[in-house]
Formats: sequence, structure tokens, C-alpha cells
Amino acid sequence: MNKIFTTAIKAVSKSAYICKEIQAQLIKEDALTKEDRSPVTIADFASQAIICRTLKAEFPEIPIVGEEDANSLRQKENKILLEKIGKFLTGWTEEEILDAIDQGNGEAKGRFWTVDPIDGTKGFLRGEQYAVALALIENGQVQMGILGCPNLNRKQDESGLIAYAIKGQGAFTADMDGKNAHPVKVSQNSADELIRFLESVEAAHANHGLQGQIMDALGEKAQSVRFDSQVKYAVLAQGIAEVYLRLPNELKPDYREKIWDHAAGMIIVQEAGGRVTDMFGKNLDFTQGKKLLNNRGIMVSNGLVHDEILELINKFKK
Ligand code: AMP
Ligand code: MG
Repeated sequence: MNKIFTTAIKAVSKSAYICKEIQAQLIKEDALTKEDRSPVTIADFASQAIICRTLKAEFPEIPIVGEEDANSLRQKENKILLEKIGKFLTGWTEEEILDAIDQGNGEAKGRFWTVDPIDGTKGFLRGEQYAVALALIENGQVQMGILGCPNLNRKQDESGLIAYAIKGQGAFTADMDGKNAHPVKVSQNSADELIRFLESVEAAHANHGLQGQIMDALGEKAQSVRFDSQVKYAVLAQGIAEVYLRLPNELKPDYREKIWDHAAGMIIVQEAGGRVTDMFGKNLDFTQGKKLLNNRGIMVSNGLVHDEILELINKFKK
């Protein structure tokens, strides 16, 4: 596990630094719209290229299931974007960039990596929170999760941290270079104390109305904090919030959660002492390919408040 872990940390760290650099100088022309109408930027591509290349150099036999592919970048009209990516990946040829991105086309079977090169691209574009997410899954069990969070503060005067966990070994945060790690624990608040709820910023990604009803039922002890991306899992694992609620958007009944949006975050919260289920209290099932086909919604907590919130979901859902 040791070499796998150090390679994975190195991959996320390198990518997180480049994402930070790109975010600081991003212009609106640096993004494309994908078929599902979601945005993708030069940073998403650069990040996936770095991660795939770093992992494949050491572990060529482990497939990688990445969110992005290089199809759009291979089109002539997007040559400018490819050239821009090349400016951040010094020494790489354009073919190497395209091929590295497409190494993320592996199959979600057996033992594989899953990577979301920029989770929360909309937050990234707003200059706010996002995460570089990498997890190792083996026969449906998440073995390791790493979240690079370049805009999340670990120390007061310095932004950026890496949160990580290996199954059975606890959860940690470290500096952006992976050094100076410290264990983290979830909050010990019970259901009659303050319950801080983490929610998406984007209205389309959840059912904020229903989530609001649940919080209203709890009265003043419930507070809402909105963040993009799996940063929410990293915040909860550090004990700064008690719940991350993600109920399905009623306007998108066919949407299913993607494995790369939850695998890394889930293991980090679990190893920090928290609990992760779907909205019905079922464990997340990572055996179904790229999507969590057997789950609906996501409910994450410090464990102590979990059952009470599940009951409220059950009471208020239609
Ligand atoms: P967040 O930053 O919490 O809003 O989550 C970002 C993630 O939401 C993206 O990585 C998308 O994969 C995912 N997403 C897109 N559409 C939906 C949807 N209708 N319901 C839930 N998640 C979605
Ligand atoms: Mg994502």
C-alpha cells in the first residue's frame, strides 16, 4: 500500500498546485461546455493528464476511471485550448497530453482508480471551492481516498490542504505538498446540539427546498453552509460540520450520482469516524460501474446525528 499511497499523494499534490495556478489566471475562453451542458476547463484536462501520467508510470496495470476524455480536445477548433494546457505542462507534447487524459478511459471493475480531476468545476470557475479527487476501489470497496483542496484553509494564513484516508488507518489532513500530516476526527455534537449542514452551491445538484424543510424542522440548532465539491466531505471529516445532505433534484429524476464524486470523500469521512449512506440509509454501492445505480441521494454525518436526519428525510420526502 505504501508505494501506491505515496504515488497517489504525489499525483494529487502536483495536480492541485497546477489547478491553483490556472484558477488564478483563468479567463472564460478557457472552458468548454460538455454534452450534458456542464463545463470543463483547461484545468480539468491538465489535472486528469497529470494524475493519469503519474499513476500509470508506477502502476500501468491498474485501470483509471476518470471523469474527462480528450475527444473534444482532439478537434481542430479546440487546438487553442490544447496549446494553453501545454503552457502549464512544460515538456509535454500535445500527443502526450491527449493520450494521458485518455488513460482515464479504464473500466470500473476489479481494482481501479477513479478520478475527478476538478470536482466542482462551477465553483472553480467562480473562483471558489473545488477539489481534486482520487480514490482506489477494489471489488466495490473503497481502499483509499485523497482530496486536494487548494482553497480550503488548514492554517489560518495559508490556503490549501490535502485530506486523505486509507481504509482502517484513519483520516488525515496535510499541507498541499502532502507533508505535515495530522489526524482528523468528526465533530462530537449530538442531535440536540448545533447541527451544521453542508450543501451544494448549485441549485441543480440537489433539492434545496426539501433540505431546507428538514433544517427548519430542527429549528435554530440547524445551520446551512454551502460549498462546491467534495470539499464538503473534507470539512465534515475535520469536525467543522455535522451533516452533508444531497437529496435528488426533483427535476432530474434519472440522475444517478457518479463514483468519482463520492468515493474519496466517503472513505475520508468514515475513517474520521463519520457515517456515509444514501438518503434511505443504505451503504453506497461501488460495484455498479461509473454510477451509484443502487443508491439515491447522499447523507453524510458525524454518525451521532445520522438516524435523526434519516427519519426527517423519510418524513418530508414525497
Ligand atoms: P457540487 O459541487 O456539490 O454541486 O457537486 C458537483 C457535482 O455534481 C459534479 O461533479 C457533478 O458530477 C454533479 N452533478 C451534476 N448534476 C447533478 C444532479 N442533477 N444531481 C446531483 N449531482 C449532480
Ligand atoms: Mg465532480
